[in-house]
Amino acid sequence: MQLLETLGKCPVCSFPTGSNNKRDDAFEIRGGREYLSPLADTAKIVLDDLMAQMQSYECSNCRAFYLEPWLNPYARSRTFITGHPIHNVGWRNLQQWTERGLIPEIPGGIDSLYERIRTRVGNFNSYVEFGCPFQGLILGLAPYEDSELLTRTSASQFAMPTKHAHRRLLPPLYWYLKLSNNIFRLSQFLTVIRKTRDRIRGRHQSSASVFRLPERSTFVPLQSSRFWSTNCSMFGASCTALVSRFSNVTVSTRPEILKAETHYYDVAGLFNVLDHQDDPLILLREVLKISKLVVCMSHDAPFSRQHNFGLGREFFYNLPRIIDGCEIELIGEDGANSLFFVSVQGELVHGAI
Ligand SMILES: [Zn+2]
Repeated sequence: MQLLETLGKCPVCSFPTGSNNKRDDAFEIRGGREYLSPLADTAKIVLDDLMAQMQSYECSNCRAFYLEPWLNPYARSRTFITGHPIHNVGWRNLQQWTERGLIPEIPGGIDSLYERIRTRVGNFNSYVEFGCPFQGLILGLAPYEDSELLTRTSASQFAMPTKHAHRRLLPPLYWYLKLSNNIFRLSQFLTVIRKTRDRIRGRHQSSASVFRLPERSTFVPLQSSRFWSTNCSMFGASCTALVSRFSNVTVSTRPEILKAETHYYDVAGLFNVLDHQDDPLILLREVLKISKLVVCMSHDAPFSRQHNFGLGREFFYNLPRIIDGCEIELIGEDGANSLFFVSVQGELVHGAI
C-alpha cells in the first residue's frame, strides 16, 4: 500500500521543490511518532523507515518548511480519522482547565495578549476563533464556572482511544471511568499534588480571571485532511459539542462566517491551526478580510512529522511579500511557539498566492 506522495511543490504556496533548498534540521527525525505509529502498524511497515523517506525543504518563496514526500490522502485519513483521531494538546488543555483551572500556555501569557489587543483595536467586543477551541482565547478567557457545564454532563467515555492515547492522554479521567471509586480518590489526590506543583511553578489561573470573552464570540471548526477536524472527540463528545456549552460561544461554519462584512470582527484567533490546513493562505486571506486583527500562534522549528509543513517565524516575517498590505507584529515567543498580530488595513488586494 502506497502511503506517501510527492507533489513536487511547496504545499503552502506551490513554489516548485526544484527551486527550494533541503533543510534537514527543520523537522525532528522522530517527532510525531505517536500520531504516525498506528498508520505504520496497520500497513505493517517500520515507522522509522517511513519517516526517513520524508525529506525536509525550506520554500524560497513563502519561507514555509515542508516535508516531501509526505502522507498521501489515504494515509492522512488513516492517521487523523482512524489511527490517532485525537488532538493531544487540545484535550490536554481542556483537562488541565477543568481539573486544575489552568489556561493554555501562550507566549507572553493571555493577560498580556489581551492588553495588547485592547491597545490595538480599542473595545474588544467580537471575536472569532478557528480550528481547535482549546488552544487560544476561547479557553483562556472562558469563565471558570463554565467548566462545570462540561463536567456535569452525563456519563461519557473515550470515543476512540489508541494505545498511545491511553498512556498519554487524560490518564486520570480515563481511569475514573474505567475503574472504581478508589482509583477516583487516588486521582483526586494526584490532582492536589499537581495543583501544588502548579502553584510552586507559578502557573495558576487566578491571574487571568480579570478578563472575559467578548459577548459575541464564535468558534468555527475547520475541515482539513491534515487535521483531526470535527472527527476529534473525547468523553463521548466532539470538541465542537463541548465548546458550544461555553456561555458566550456560538459555533458556526466557515461559509457562514465569511459572509461578514470587511473587518466585521474585532479580533480573530488562529492558534496552531494554519499549519494543519489544506489551504492555509486562502484561509488566512479570508480571516484577514473579516477581522481587524488576526492573532496567529505558530510552532517554530523543529517541527514534528504529523505536520506536512511548518509555519515558523520566518514565514510570518515574509508574509508582507505574499499578501499585499499585510502588517506583522511579533507579540511573544517562548522557544517553541511564536505569537503574531497579522492585519491588513482597508480592502485586501486579490491576486495570486
Ligand atoms: Zn511556499
